[in-house]
Amino acid sequence: MTSSKKRTESADGGDWRPESPVTVLRGVGPVRARRLAEAGIRSLGDLARQVPARWEDRRSVVPVAGLTEPGVVTVEGRIVGLRRTPTRRRGLRLVRGAVEDASGRLPAIWFNRPFLAASVDPTVLYRLHGAVRPGRSGAGGLQLVNASVEAAAEADRRVVPVYRPIGELGPAAVARLVGQVVDGLDLTAGIVDGPADELSELRGLPRLGEALLRLHRPRAADDVEELNEGRSRGHLRLAYGDLLRLQVRIARRRRTWKGRRRVCAYRIPDPPESLGESWLPFRLTGAQRRTFREIARDLRSPRPMLRLLQGDVGCGKTAVAALALAAAVRSGHQAALMAPTEILAEQHHDTLTRLFGGEFEVGCLTSGSEGRERLLERLAAGEVPVVVGTHALVQESVRFARLALVVIDEQHRFGVEQRRRLLGKAERPDVLVMTATPIPRSLALAVYGDLDLSVIDELPPGRAPVRTRTAPALHRPRLLSWLARRVAAGERAYVVFPRIDGEDAGEMASIVRAEEAYRAALPPGCLEVLHGRIDRRLRGEILARFAGGETAVLLATTLVEVGLDVPDATVMVIEGAERFGLAQLHQLRGRVGRGGRPAVCVALHGELGETAESRLRTFAETRDGFVLAEADLEIRGPGELLGRQQAGTKWLAPLRLASDGQWLRAAREDARRWVGSPDVVGGRRSAVALEAGG
Ligand code: ADP
Ligand code: MG
Repeated sequence: MTSSKKRTESADGGDWRPESPVTVLRGVGPVRARRLAEAGIRSLGDLARQVPARWEDRRSVVPVAGLTEPGVVTVEGRIVGLRRTPTRRRGLRLVRGAVEDASGRLPAIWFNRPFLAASVDPTVLYRLHGAVRPGRSGAGGLQLVNASVEAAAEADRRVVPVYRPIGELGPAAVARLVGQVVDGLDLTAGIVDGPADELSELRGLPRLGEALLRLHRPRAADDVEELNEGRSRGHLRLAYGDLLRLQVRIARRRRTWKGRRRVCAYRIPDPPESLGESWLPFRLTGAQRRTFREIARDLRSPRPMLRLLQGDVGCGKTAVAALALAAAVRSGHQAALMAPTEILAEQHHDTLTRLFGGEFEVGCLTSGSEGRERLLERLAAGEVPVVVGTHALVQESVRFARLALVVIDEQHRFGVEQRRRLLGKAERPDVLVMTATPIPRSLALAVYGDLDLSVIDELPPGRAPVRTRTAPALHRPRLLSWLARRVAAGERAYVVFPRIDGEDAGEMASIVRAEEAYRAALPPGCLEVLHGRIDRRLRGEILARFAGGETAVLLATTLVEVGLDVPDATVMVIEGAERFGLAQLHQLRGRVGRGGRPAVCVALHGELGETAESRLRTFAETRDGFVLAEADLEIRGPGELLGRQQAGTKWLAPLRLASDGQWLRAAREDARRWVGSPDVVGGRRSAVALEAGG
């Protein structure tokens, strides 16, 4: 039973402070203190920061007779007829009874609350809060399920916080402990968050202590829905604090980077893109030209470049990167391009070799590449101007004579640590990061806030949009005969699977299980299989045969997801499409329709849950990667995206970027100002504290 007796003074006479140990609380002895410490809770301040998991609205009590529809309600009455009901299920204990008020009677049921019957006094008026649902009897009546029970006389709080259990302390026990802290400690004065508090105030947000107080003790007029969606002022303050810490870290990283002066000078012609005149086989799009000019401006400036080149799949980032590489080489430096997979590294190597047409050499360094030792020597001697590679590039043994520029393709695949190690190979390298992950601009600020942003928002001319269809896997036979006709007409197709082999027998969404069906439906010899378990050397050959048109159909894993460029491929079949995220689906689709011929993407799926169905529908209806990214965020929430990149951002989850992008921008602005001139608010010491807090 939850009881929340109000405490007005603390156990030791009111001398509680945030750093006081939890043992000053009533009901916390050494054993419980140890349990709490295991959960990271040692002081009263730690408890004060336990934000409720949800809030129950117990402001309006309804008469039970008025209940006609399922929902969450608060009722007040006597609890009558309590009895334990036997069940067959082991470990399940039921207590049944009813709530009786002036209007009538409502059946009630509790699971696993065996002591309820003993503790309820039939003469006392109780306030109950819980869900009403149709009863199992089928009589159509409603019953109150698992309601919380408290004596009406004590039920003075109206919007009631419910806490997550801590170890074996249940929600009610946690509520009692936090209640003692909130009563005995002046949160508004006691909990301070240094500069974050001051900056919050400037932005019209509550200070941390005040925010916590509002979360533990919402006012009668507070919006409970907002609280439960994590969108109250208090939540916003917590999110802003997280953002600020994140942005301060980012701003410091940027300051360290940009604060150096470059050692490598570049000679860049005017206009900059004329660097490619002799070798680029196509006219740059307007967006390619603009973004390369932004890069050229960085290379001419006295500060090292730190730039993100963002653009949807197929927009032609490689050409822009090639121009940057050429700028380095023409200026007498070495440059490196790092790719996330070997296949992609090899492809970049081929593309660049072809593009530069022998004007200068491009080396390829993967973990299995031949002539590795020789290449390493020549790199160290400065004889090879451009090298392409995977993470093998960051190994200790790789040295450069005069590395000036590092281009990192598909950044999201690299860990921050690898990036750091590669950058350690040159004194002050210029860095260009390329990504096709079309994260919305507002989020890009948060994730890549230390980078300047260039966006290619235009596709090369002559691209026909990829028609997208979804179909249940049951329709595979029809798909196969359609595919056979496309192949007969000379087209080339990828078929991508989520797995190499499937676990359960009914499962076709794996290469091993589906291969026979595909082989049987297609002319002999036109199909090959490509996945990570195939020998590295063979992989390159398989891909080359597909690119060259010898093979028409490639059954593959997501190895082909990133970056592959076979312009003639026109069909993308995605098996088990429900297993892929939106961004991945979009990447896969981006592999076809690059050569100007109309292309088709077919997403085959198994049983669909609600989310998967809406995801696939969105995928089929939307071509724009940025729109998809927004939709993906709606489905998954930015917390996940951010959380993977940066720790300590748990309050960001409920932020909705469309409306809350302003907070990301605000935090970035505040952090940059703050890091740039430590005197803006507080002093240097509080800046350090702010950072340490993240
Ligand atoms: P991504 O941005 O996905 O890395 P790529 O650099 O692989 O895109 O380019 C996709 C395809 O578009 C390649 O085949 C490339 O040769 C071609 N391409 C790039 N820029 C242009 C352009 N300005 N005009 C015509 N084709 C282009
Ligand atoms: Mg690419």
